Amino acid sequence: MLLNCGQTLPLLSHTDVPARVTESFILSGYRFPNYSLRDCIRSAFRPTNETGNFWTHFLPVFVFAYYFVEAFRWDGVPDADAPFFYPLWTYFIGVFCLLMASSMAHLLNSMSLVVREVCFFVDYGTISAYTVGSSLAYYYYIHPQAGIVEKGNLNGSRLGLSHEHEGALTFYRFFETFYIPCACVIAIICVLSCCNTRQRWREHRYIIRTLVFLLPFLISSTPVFYRLLTRSPYSRTSSSFAASAPMPGFFLRHSLWLLVSAMFNISKLPERLAPGRFDIWGHSHQWFHCCTFLSILDELRMIQAEVRAILLNPDFLLPPSRSSRLPGPTVASTYGVMLLLQTTIVSIITWFSWHANQIYGPQRDQIEKEHPGKHLKKR
Ligand SMILES: [Zn+2]
Repeated sequence: MLLNCGQTLPLLSHTDVPARVTESFILSGYRFPNYSLRDCIRSAFRPTNETGNFWTHFLPVFVFAYYFVEAFRWDGVPDADAPFFYPLWTYFIGVFCLLMASSMAHLLNSMSLVVREVCFFVDYGTISAYTVGSSLAYYYYIHPQAGIVEKGNLNGSRLGLSHEHEGALTFYRFFETFYIPCACVIAIICVLSCCNTRQRWREHRYIIRTLVFLLPFLISSTPVFYRLLTRSPYSRTSSSFAASAPMPGFFLRHSLWLLVSAMFNISKLPERLAPGRFDIWGHSHQWFHCCTFLSILDELRMIQAEVRAILLNPDFLLPPSRSSRLPGPTVASTYGVMLLLQTTIVSIITWFSWHANQIYGPQRDQIEKEHPGKHLKKR
């Protein structure tokens, strides 16, 4: 035991806890699902099968914040509260909520069967909100027309643009109209599907949850795919071109980490090969957390590379310049979108939580009645 804070509650085997609480191939280290808030917090310092899950998303909050503020230290950047940075902040909110909700879900889920359901509904909700936070950053910083200043009409030849950039003119109209609404709709579909896997389709839950999050990745990344398939909008000799050059590498790494994390989540390796051996440390969910965080770090670097490229190019300033082809970020188009989405997600979570209370409330009351002093079998 790492730290013994007063009375230590016994950990249980998979046969001693309700079937609802068990994880595939994890045989021991379970906390009984009626811990108090205090017991849950204490359990962060004990080797249970959730300890690693908690720390692998809680510590990254600080690592992410450390790298995130880097952009505000560059020379000549606008103030951190300038409209230019609104999308970067919505991205920060998305990542921060995802990491915090995930770590808290793993820490607090043993309070009751109902709390456990709510914790994971919130977890899925924040993952979806994060995908929209990313999309907003992609839209304003990686969008093929992000910050391109209007110098005449929208005729590409008059602007001296290449064929790729004429294509961009058409493409940007698509983004302008559908990109963010699509990202929001997909996020809501993801929350609905993932919350449903806790109440039905149980045997395929890991595959469904993984695939459901592949869809927002594909939709959100369309501006990146477009940029990778066309020429950089920056002149080869410009410092913006140099700043933007590492972007494809970061995106590739971001995608690879996501792929590896999905493989851990679906395969349940390594615990599948040796059930019971990785109950506390080294099981697939911890590797899944580590890989998702590494993918977020590479995504942050990719976004920062593009932010830097825009800032280094005086012709590529986002509004307040009114002549930018892409309307600049506003409170409504960034924080407003996130608020609207979060409100919708909270409504969905409330509905599923109410439903979970109907299902698990009686079971929870029964457990509390049978075991008022908390725990039954010891392991
Ligand atoms: Zn998790």
